[in-house]
Amino acid sequence: MTAAQLRARDDPAIEAIDVRVYVVPTDAPEADGTASWDSTTMVLVRVLSDGVVGTGWTYGAAQCADIVKDTLCRVVLHRSALDTSERFDDMVVRVRNEGRQGAIGYAISAVDSALWDLKARLLRLPLFRLMGGVRDEVPVYGSGGFTSYSDEQQSRQLGGWVHGQDIPRVKIKIGEDWGRDVEHDLDRIHKARVTIGDEAELFVDANGAYSRKEAVRVARRAAEDRLSWFEEPVTSDDLEGLREVRDAIDADVAAGEYGFDLPYFRRMCEAESVDCLQVDATRCGGYTEFQRAAAAAASFSLEVSAHCAPNLHAHVAATTPNLRHVEWFHDHARIERLFFEGALDPSGGAVHPDPALAGNGLVLRERDVAEYRIA
Ligand SMILES: [Mg+2]
Repeated sequence: MTAAQLRARDDPAIEAIDVRVYVVPTDAPEADGTASWDSTTMVLVRVLSDGVVGTGWTYGAAQCADIVKDTLCRVVLHRSALDTSERFDDMVVRVRNEGRQGAIGYAISAVDSALWDLKARLLRLPLFRLMGGVRDEVPVYGSGGFTSYSDEQQSRQLGGWVHGQDIPRVKIKIGEDWGRDVEHDLDRIHKARVTIGDEAELFVDANGAYSRKEAVRVARRAAEDRLSWFEEPVTSDDLEGLREVRDAIDADVAAGEYGFDLPYFRRMCEAESVDCLQVDATRCGGYTEFQRAAAAAASFSLEVSAHCAPNLHAHVAATTPNLRHVEWFHDHARIERLFFEGALDPSGGAVHPDPALAGNGLVLRERDVAEYRIA
């Protein structure tokens, strides 16, 4: 029987796609080396088939909702809810002339994740089992330490993760004001180390704020604070620069959060720019492309770390053999706890997707979050 004949049998079809936009204020002003913000926009996609709803989302511009409604719906509606790879290909082909970067890639990602959740729920399987589980336990690291925080805020947050929740690795933002305040960066790094004690791992993320040599100097001057992860020491566009920093410092260099497609990840790996590749399923093309990006990294003997959107990544992370960890990003973890019943608990430094729940295991708290909805 051909694939087309199989599909023609009685596959459930995608009957409706519902898109919502929410804007959630941060609980305090947030900033990193190259951006600042006081709210987060979440575009939530729900796909319906046979009375079952699948949910996916992205943290992107509100325009993602229009892209889903005006463009992606045309190639997704009324098609098989089981052939996720075909749905993904159709979306990618459909946007050829518009380009897959930016909001379009975010929109495709949200739909793809929703379709995977739908399929798992239709088949009454937890997402990680449908996709091929490889571990029950997904390591996480606490991520926040914004450059806008006072020493007291930073210490409370990091101390809460390490001493309160027993999470043995945390990350702070550095590169304040485009790398113009290195002394303050170094002071905050040192205070972070004092807060978390000797045992926990300390990560930093400059969001591309430094020049190559500045980044190396910062890493060397912070030597006694034992950094084990230096994310985007220079801009991710400078693959050679990332490699130069990587060669010069002890900490692992990481990047990849802006990757929109497989060639992006391949180029980054090929240039030997990173010790660990970051992949974000809310940007790169959902779970479909996340798994492929992880495979691409594996072919270079690299591990991957999931960037942000922790509850969206938990299941796919549990299917990724070369996973290092998932970023438990303060802002997104807080939003997902507000939005979903079943949001996971990172206490102990790992999350455990529930094998008894279908799909991603989450239920939208529709009424509780109505106040944040703008479209
Ligand atoms: Mg980052």
